Amino acid sequence: MEFSPVSTEDVNTEGCIKSDTSHRKRKVSRDVELEIELLYKAVPQLAKVFRIIDKIGEGTFSSVYLGEAQMQDGRREMFALKYLIPTSHPTRIAAELQCLTVAGGRENVMGVTFCFRKEDRVLIVMPYMEHQAIVDVIGSLSFEEVRLYIYHLLKALKHIHQFGIIHRDIKPNNFLYNRKSKKYALVDFGLAQGTADTQIELLKVVRPRSSQKGGGTTGKQEAAPRSKAPPKTTSTASTSLPPQQSLPASSSSSSTSSSASGKTLVKRARPVPTLGSHTKLTKELTGLRKVPRPVFGERNLNSCAPVRSTTKQAASKKELRKPADLAPQGPLPVRTQSSSQKPQKALQPGLTCSCYLTDRVCNICMARKQQVAPRAGTPGFRAPEVLTKCPNQGTAIDVWSAGVILLSLLSGRYPFFKASDDLIALTQIMTVRGSRETIRAAKTFGKALVCSQELPCQDLRTLCETLRGSGSSRNNKVTPAAEAKCSEKIHDETPTHRPADPTLHPHRDGETAACLTKQSSVSDSEVEEDELGWDTVPDEAYELLDQMLDLNPSTRITAADALQHPLFNDL
Ligand code: ADP
Ligand code: MG
Ligand code: ZN
Repeated sequence: MEFSPVSTEDVNTEGCIKSDTSHRKRKVSRDVELEIELLYKAVPQLAKVFRIIDKIGEGTFSSVYLGEAQMQDGRREMFALKYLIPTSHPTRIAAELQCLTVAGGRENVMGVTFCFRKEDRVLIVMPYMEHQAIVDVIGSLSFEEVRLYIYHLLKALKHIHQFGIIHRDIKPNNFLYNRKSKKYALVDFGLAQGTADTQIELLKVVRPRSSQKGGGTTGKQEAAPRSKAPPKTTSTASTSLPPQQSLPASSSSSSTSSSASGKTLVKRARPVPTLGSHTKLTKELTGLRKVPRPVFGERNLNSCAPVRSTTKQAASKKELRKPADLAPQGPLPVRTQSSSQKPQKALQPGLTCSCYLTDRVCNICMARKQQVAPRAGTPGFRAPEVLTKCPNQGTAIDVWSAGVILLSLLSGRYPFFKASDDLIALTQIMTVRGSRETIRAAKTFGKALVCSQELPCQDLRTLCETLRGSGSSRNNKVTPAAEAKCSEKIHDETPTHRPADPTLHPHRDGETAACLTKQSSVSDSEVEEDELGWDTVPDEAYELLDQMLDLNPSTRITAADALQHPLFNDL
């Protein structure tokens, strides 16, 4: 890529840059202007190449800016500049870059153009792709658009999985979609991990994270910092980096015991600290490192290790929690066999656990160490094996997340699952896939789940049509238009499913009910719905959905096989 320097006069125009593209006229807020100024200061070489026009994204570990560069042939080109939080571990950053350089730039995977580094500040420069947020278009997508979207997402997954990359954070925010030009791009390898035989060298070095993005309530920008080490001044190109220090596992974990762990979740509304000052973040990190924070560790069905008793102190402080305490929305009928998050003291051998496969947690189990397994990603998109902390996780977790996206698109609901912690997420999955089925699947990967209430497995077509208000369920259900309005209102606060509502009915709350009364005449919406193809969704779509949402990762369809599914015969 050949840049020609941009004059500093242009650059110093407070973020509102003179340019002949429409981007130039963007009105940016004073805050963003300040951020841009600071960015120029933090990485001065930027100014020689880019005019930073606006901020276009704020993730957990980065801020993304729109930058314009004048190319040597005179053209101006737009780039996305991803500025990583300075506390990101150098190996992490290097691994993210390596995923982009090795696998990116084709097959619907975002490429990388350039990278800037000044001390601990790193900027990844990528081609800019204009895109729409799923939440803005979901109400008007046709079935054909949904089919293509999933096809292209699977294509990206097949491609990265061939390189042994597990993305770990598949969700619409990380799969850019340009509806008009039908372009797609998978971004954000910030949480990626390698399979055992990964071709991405640096993914062999990055340690699995046990506590990651997620655990928060929004399913959007929540996280504990991915950094496991203090800021380092190291070249991202270097591979001989210091080993990562590890955070106590699952600081953001939620399992059953977890209001306490909820508090430890590092949740920042504006996750990127002001350039050059990340005191707060550093403090949070330091705090996390100091406090041992064992949370529930699921008892492995295969290992009935001698049980250990807790100390008196731990026992007296740690009362059993009823599952209902954990779900403010209603009783949470599920828990994993697990222990507490109390700091561990030496446990006496020989005591027998009294709670195995009951719906309570005994003090012995309260004192167990938690099981450590990767939990990266956003709760609503996490696969059952991730939610239950199965240590062997593979590329199948990405397919599950893609399945959740498909479920969302077919039902017209986004986000579909929205959970503040893993157990609620698991309950929500059970609500759709059935509690018995979930328990059975969990058993195959060594996890014992207890559910106090039986939740039946839903028929996926009926479920989606009911929520969408189309197809055969249309007559006695809400119309898409009314539903779209309602879901728009509620999507931010309310998950599509609540643990307390195992029967899945669109009449979920006052707001929705209010909308329902308005839509007795449905003909317009019906016509629209028919035009969008929602009245003729083929069985293959639900078949594929069923295979992507297979609770058992070892039988779950792979991205490569999914692309061969009859649903995509003509593609
Ligand atoms: P994070 O790790 O902080 O989530 P992402 O890489 O997911 O960062 O980027 C955050 C957001 O920035 C994305 O959801 C997207 O809206 C925007 N973005 C990222 N890369 C690009 C790009 N190449 N082109 C356009 N927008 C981008
Ligand atoms: Mg992201
Ligand atoms: Zn027990």
